Amino acid sequence: MDFDLFVIGGGSAGVRCARISAGHGARVGIAEDRFWGGTCVNVGCVPKKLLVQAGEYGAWADDAAGFGWKIKKGPHNWRKLIKAKDKEIARLNGIYRRLLEGAHAQIFDARAVFLDPHTLDVGGQRITAERIVIATGGHPERVQIPGAELGIISDDAFFLPRMPERVAIIGSGYIAVEFAGIFQALGAQVDLIYRQPLPLRGFYQDLREGLAEALGQQGIAQHPGCRPLKLEADGDRRVLTFGENQKLRADLVFFATGRRPATEKLGLDNAGVTLNDKGAVVVDANLRTSAPHIYAMGDVTDRINLTPVATAEGHALADSLFGRHPRSISLQNVPSAVFSTPPIATVGLTEEQAAARGPVDVYVSKFTPMRHTLSGRTRRTMMKLVVDQRTQRVLGVHMLGEDAPEIMQGLAVAVVMGATKADFDRTIGIHPTAAEEFVTLRTRTRVSGVAQAAE
Ligand code: NDP
Repeated sequence: MDFDLFVIGGGSAGVRCARISAGHGARVGIAEDRFWGGTCVNVGCVPKKLLVQAGEYGAWADDAAGFGWKIKKGPHNWRKLIKAKDKEIARLNGIYRRLLEGAHAQIFDARAVFLDPHTLDVGGQRITAERIVIATGGHPERVQIPGAELGIISDDAFFLPRMPERVAIIGSGYIAVEFAGIFQALGAQVDLIYRQPLPLRGFYQDLREGLAEALGQQGIAQHPGCRPLKLEADGDRRVLTFGENQKLRADLVFFATGRRPATEKLGLDNAGVTLNDKGAVVVDANLRTSAPHIYAMGDVTDRINLTPVATAEGHALADSLFGRHPRSISLQNVPSAVFSTPPIATVGLTEEQAAARGPVDVYVSKFTPMRHTLSGRTRRTMMKLVVDQRTQRVLGVHMLGEDAPEIMQGLAVAVVMGATKADFDRTIGIHPTAAEEFVTLRTRTRVSGVAQAAE
C-alpha cells in the first residue's frame, strides 16, 4: 500500500485527522480539490463571523450617541470588507497547508475517487491505502422550485460584488438568521421567508419568540408560514413568488435551506460504503462505515454538523488508529451558537426534551442589557436554566443576547462535568456582567414535565 491512511477532504475533520495521524508516525496522504480548510474557513464559520463583526461596528456607531459620542456614520464599503476578508482567508489557507506539510503528510490538490475499497484515483494517479477517511463535508442546497438557479447560496454570499439593496432570504435555520442580521446591519433591506411559525426550528420556544421579536426590531421583515413557489428574473432584479402567491421584488434571493452531504461522484459504490436516505455516509460510534477499513467524519455523516465536532472526531480517530489511544468523542452536551443579531448559544437539553424525561425546574430571566439602558436600542437578553428536579443537575443552559457564545463556552464545561443548580448557586458572580445572572437565578419560573412523568 502507498499509504497507511488516505484522507479525502481537506476541511476541519480531514486536516486534523491527517495531521495528527502523520504526527503519530503514519504515512498519510490527503486530497482536496477546492480549498484547504473546507467550508468553515472559506465559506462558513470564519468569514461569516467577520461579516457579523462588520455589522456590529455599524450598530455601535449608532449606539454611541447615548454615551455622549457624536459619530457621523458614513456608508459601508462592502468591497473593502470582502477584500480584507479574502486576505485573511488566504492567510488561513496557507496555515492549513503548512500544518500538513510540517507533519509530513503528502498533499494532493486533486479530487479522489474510489476505484475499489483500497484504491483511489487521485487526479489521474492510482493510489492505494490501508485505511481511508471520507471527510468531504457538504454543500448548500436550493429548494427545487422553478427558477431556483436565479437565487444564490451561502457559498456565493461571501463573494458578492456589491451589497444588494434588498435581499430575500429563504429559510430560518442557522444560515438564514445569521445572514439576515449581516445584510440588515450592513445596510440592506431584508425579508425572511420561512415555513415555520417561528425561526430556528428545534430551539426552545421562548428563545425562538425572542429572536423573532429581535429580528423585527432590526427592521427585518418576516414572512412566517410561507414556502417559496417560483423565482423569476426581471433584468438584474429577482421576483420571488411565495406563500399564497405573494410577490416580492429583490436584488438578491438567497436560499439558506439546508446542506447536503458531499457523497456524489466519489465512487462510493466501488468501495461498498453505505449511505442513508439523505445521502450521508452511515458510521458507527467509532466512525467506521460499512467497509471496516473506511471511516467517515464531519458533515458528510450529517449528525451534528459543527466544525468543533468534526475536528474532535478527526483527532480521536487519529489517536485511535495510530496513537495507541483508542477513544471516541461524546456527542452529548455539544454546545453551539447561532451568530444571529443578537446571538444565541445553548448547551444540553431544551426544556421540551428534558421534560419528556421527567420533571424539571425551569429558571428564566429576561432583561435589558446594561449597555442598552443608555444606548436606547430596544434589545432584550434572555437566559434559561433547565434543571433535573430529582438530581438537581443542570441539563440545559440557553441564552439569547449579546456575548451569548462567549458566555456559553465556560458554562458548557460545567454542564459536561455534571454541575448541579447548587454548584451554580455557590459560584460567585462577576459584577456587572450579563453572565452573572446564570449564578443568581434564585426563583424558579416553572416546573415542566410533571404531566409527562405521571403518564
Ligand atoms: P438548517 O437545517 O439549519 O435550516 C434549513 C432551513 O431551510 C430551515 O429553516 C428549513 O425549514 C428550511 N427548508 C428546508 N427545506 C425547505 C423547503 N423545501 N422549503 C422551504 N424551506 C425549507 O440549514 P442551514 O442551511 O441554515 O445550515 C446547515 C447546517 O450548517 C446547520 O444545521 C448547522 O449544523 C450548520 N451551521 C452551523 C452554524 C453555527 O454553528 N453557527 C452556522 C451555519 C451553519 P424547516 O425548519 O421548516 O425545516
